[in-house]
Amino acid sequence: MAIRENLEHIISEIPKNVSLVAVSKTKPFEDLKEAYEAGQRIFGENKVQELVEKQMQLPDDVQWHMIGHLQRNKVKYIAPFISLIHSVDSLRLLKEINKQGSKLNLKINCLLQIHIAQEENKFGLSATELDEIFTSIEDFEFVNIKGLMGMATFTNDQVQLKSEFTYLAQLFKEKAIDFKNLEILSMGMSGDYQLAIDCGSNMIRVGSRIFGARNYHH
Ligand SMILES: *Cc1c(COP(=O)(O)O)cnc(C)c1O
Repeated sequence: MAIRENLEHIISEIPKNVSLVAVSKTKPFEDLKEAYEAGQRIFGENKVQELVEKQMQLPDDVQWHMIGHLQRNKVKYIAPFISLIHSVDSLRLLKEINKQGSKLNLKINCLLQIHIAQEENKFGLSATELDEIFTSIEDFEFVNIKGLMGMATFTNDQVQLKSEFTYLAQLFKEKAIDFKNLEILSMGMSGDYQLAIDCGSNMIRVGSRIFGARNYHH
């Protein structure tokens, strides 16, 4: 498996303003090291324990992104070092992140995850819940809401995917008028990142196209 070549290929395909998060969940340290040596600095994980273990093994200039559902009682383990939490899917979670940020006296960068898929089992806020959060945004002094994130339906149906991405991009555009800090739109994975970028994504989260297939179905 040629991690360096995979990375180079993806980077050659995407516009310069699009950030690439290398999703290394379930992959061993050696694979992350190979990606690091090829120049990759942003890594995404979806489990707190795995994220913390890998963070201790890789150099300090890695930017760690939490991309999976985050339990409130685990925020404290990642708060000191996390560069971006993509998966803020409730007001209660946001409150906890703010609390941990206040203890450390630092602002924690977050994206609000919006439910865009047809599947009910995917996490995320509705547009109404998003508005509720924005209404109380001033209460969160130790959180920096940098943008929105979404996970599309697990399908090859391009029309379906496009309508989900377009919906999120539109929501992002609307909110960015009032909230100037909103600059990141995280959408697109291995199978659909080109389409996501065409629809306005500027941060893609790519796992299997870099590291090869995982041994389970997420
Ligand atoms: C696993 C995962 C990805 C990457 O999936 P691939 O299809 O392997 O690129 C992206 N985003 C989230 C939230 C994930 O859990």
